[in-house]
Amino acid sequence: MILFKKASDILSFIENQRSKGAQTGFVPTMGALHQGHISLVGQSKSQTSLCISSIFVNPTQFNNKSDFEKYPITIEKDIEMLEAAGCDLLFLPSLDEIYPHGFKAPFYELGYLETVLEGASRPGHYQGVCQVVDRLLTIIPTDILFLGRKDYQQCMVIEKMINIRGFDTRIIIGDTIREQDGLAMSSRNVRLNSLERKQATGIFKALTYIKNNIQQGDLGKVLEEGKGILTQHGFVTDYLQLTNRELQILETWDGKSEVIALVAAYMGDVRLIDNMKVA
Ligand code: AMP
Repeated sequence: MILFKKASDILSFIENQRSKGAQTGFVPTMGALHQGHISLVGQSKSQTSLCISSIFVNPTQFNNKSDFEKYPITIEKDIEMLEAAGCDLLFLPSLDEIYPHGFKAPFYELGYLETVLEGASRPGHYQGVCQVVDRLLTIIPTDILFLGRKDYQQCMVIEKMINIRGFDTRIIIGDTIREQDGLAMSSRNVRLNSLERKQATGIFKALTYIKNNIQQGDLGKVLEEGKGILTQHGFVTDYLQLTNRELQILETWDGKSEVIALVAAYMGDVRLIDNMKVA
C-alpha cells in the first residue's frame, strides 16, 4: 500500500493509473477502522482495479466539539488493517491539504434531507460531510464510491451532492456489519465502558422488535415499544422513526410498502446511530 499525504501527489498518481486504464474504487473513512470499513475495502477490491482509502477526521462535520475531541484515533492499527485487506493507496491528509488557506465552503442545497433525522439533530453536519466528500472526490478521481448503509441518510446526502457537483462517480452501498450481539460496528463503540457496551445491544433489539411486530395501520404503538426497549437498556433516545425509502416519516403503514426504522440514541455521552429495513 502506498501512503500519500499531499493532495497533488495522490491526484497525479491516480491520473497516471487511470490513463493506463485503471478503475478506481474509493472508501473514505475517519479512521478507527473496524470490519465495517474493511468490508467496503473488500468490495472495492473485487470490483475495481485500484482500491483507495482515506483517513481524515473532518472537523467541519462535527456539530459537537467534545465528540470531535474524543473521536478515537488508531492510525497504526488502521494502516495494518488496510494493508492486510489489500488496499492499494491510502490518503492521509493534514487539515491544510483538505481545506487550504482561503478555502471557502460552498452551500449545498440538500433540501428535505437536511431537515429530518440526522439533519435535524445535527445542524450543519451534512454541509460538513458534503464539503469533505466534495474535496476528496476532487483529489481522488473516483469511478465507484463505496459507502455503508449504516449511515443511510448520509448515503442519500452524498448521492445528492454528487449530482449537484456533476461528479462522474457511481455509488455502491455495503450492508451494515454487526458485532455478534447485533451492535452495528462503529468507531465510537470503543468509547463505551464494558457495562455500556453490553447494554448497547438494546438498539439492535429495538430495531429487531419493530421488524417482528410491525403491523398494518397506526405505527405509534410499535414505535413506543421500540423506544421502551431503548430506555430499558439505558439509552436516551434522540429519535426513533419509521420512514419510507426516501426518508419520509410514516405514521401509518399500508402493509405492503418498504419501511425503514432509523434510530439515534445516547449511551452516556456516546451517540450511536443505526437503521434496519423492517418491512
Ligand atoms: P466513518 O469512518 O464512520 O466515517 O465511516 C466510513 C464509511 O464506513 C462510511 O461509508 C460508513 O457508512 C461506513 N461504515 C461505518 N460503519 C459501518 C458498518 N458497521 N458497516 C458497514 N459500513 C460501515
